[in-house]
Amino acid sequence: MNIILNGASGCGKGSMAGFLTRDFGLVHISTGDLFREQIAKQTPLGKKVESYVSTGKWVPDEVTIEVLLDRIKQPDCAKGVILDGFPRTLNQAIALDKVLDIDLVIAIDVTDEIVQTRLGGRYMCRQCGTIHAARWDKIDKCKKCGGELYQRDDDKAEFIQKRLENFKKNNGEILDFYREKDKLFIVHDKLENTPADTYALVKDVVAKL
Ligand code: AMP
Repeated sequence: MNIILNGASGCGKGSMAGFLTRDFGLVHISTGDLFREQIAKQTPLGKKVESYVSTGKWVPDEVTIEVLLDRIKQPDCAKGVILDGFPRTLNQAIALDKVLDIDLVIAIDVTDEIVQTRLGGRYMCRQCGTIHAARWDKIDKCKKCGGELYQRDDDKAEFIQKRLENFKKNNGEILDFYREKDKLFIVHDKLENTPADTYALVKDVVAKL
């Protein structure tokens, strides 16, 4: 079973992917995580994409597609994948379609207010990558491993709006692409929903597959 989680940054794709991995044994692939790993190691790829990722600009399609296609060729992906943050352009969707059968695309629909609130309060653990709503939870260390928390450069207020605009500009045609294939399911999220509330809706759809 191969699933795409679609939605603006901050809509909770990462949390949903974590729950789905736990419950359905799928491999979580986030292109953002793949890029951040390469940047942390300062590999040639990491150096190439750093200026895009740190300012919330999208990495060019040819680079992103190559990274994703290489990852899904790995043997662990045979049990099924959850793609988080890919595809973000129609070109990426078309390239993916040539090599992988997608069973379901879950689009998490959120308002601009939800994105701004969640991204502005989101902190990541430097050690294990876990995401926390630290501003609301009033914690200053990772709840999972005790590591230091930091705010991603691209989660800073000046970049959030730009990421959102970019998302909206491209996402309509991606949704149409999967709607035509009858693969699209939209979950309407609310500001007051906890990740567990949203996941109850997502799990229901996946369990019916
Ligand atoms: P994310 O963690 O999904 O919010 O991604 C973080 C950053 O990685 C994005 O703002 C982009 O710079 C880059 N990125 C991740 N996935 C893609 C993609 N599918 N296409 C282009 N850039 C991407």
